[in-house]
Amino acid sequence: MIIAVDGPTASGKGTISRQLAQHYRLPFLDTGLLYRAVGWTLRAQGGNADDASDALAACRFHSDLLADPGLRSEEVGGLASRVSVHPAVRNALDKRQKDFANQPGGAVLDGRDIGTVIAPDADAKLFVIAKPEARALRRFSEMKSRGEPAVYEDILADILRRDERDQNRAAAPLKPAEDADLLDTSDLTIRIAVQQAIALVDARISRRVDIDPT
Ligand code: C5P
Repeated sequence: MIIAVDGPTASGKGTISRQLAQHYRLPFLDTGLLYRAVGWTLRAQGGNADDASDALAACRFHSDLLADPGLRSEEVGGLASRVSVHPAVRNALDKRQKDFANQPGGAVLDGRDIGTVIAPDADAKLFVIAKPEARALRRFSEMKSRGEPAVYEDILADILRRDERDQNRAAAPLKPAEDADLLDTSDLTIRIAVQQAIALVDARISRRVDIDPT
């Protein structure tokens, strides 16, 4: 079974996907980390994120980098958003994601274009959203709890900037697949959001079984 989870930054999709993976005992890939690794490598190479060939050169990174906590910084997230607009970068990361999705037994992947491009035939697709203010507040609290300096207004502005870039790029823009279930987490606790996500996936699977009993 393949579960595709898409949505904007800080919508709760990461936590929901991890818990779905645990619940259904499936391997999990946070595809944002791949773009973050490109952003990180580009910075180390002194490249320009808006230049397609610099960004493509940064796609050759060692897998060990994916475990580096430095990838989670806001700065690297911003670079990831900029390098991800280049079709050449998306192509370079495409096979790795599709191979992960299509492994025997299935997988859970989270990102921006999982339900539309990477796994269009996924058994269940969730599009997780939340109001920008709720997402900024979550990000603010996370950063404060890690002891990082955080200014709510700056975080909100950054979230809106990233949404705009992710939604309006030509290559694989952030948008729900036609057959995705929408989950708005603005006013939900994580526990309830996860419960609702599991209910949506279960409903999709049972509908699939009804249609194709083989
Ligand atoms: O999900 P995360 O915030 O870690 O992703 C960082 C950036 O990588 C996003 O803002 C988005 O621009 C890009 N991304 C993407 N496609 C994905 C995953 C992430 O374009 N499947």
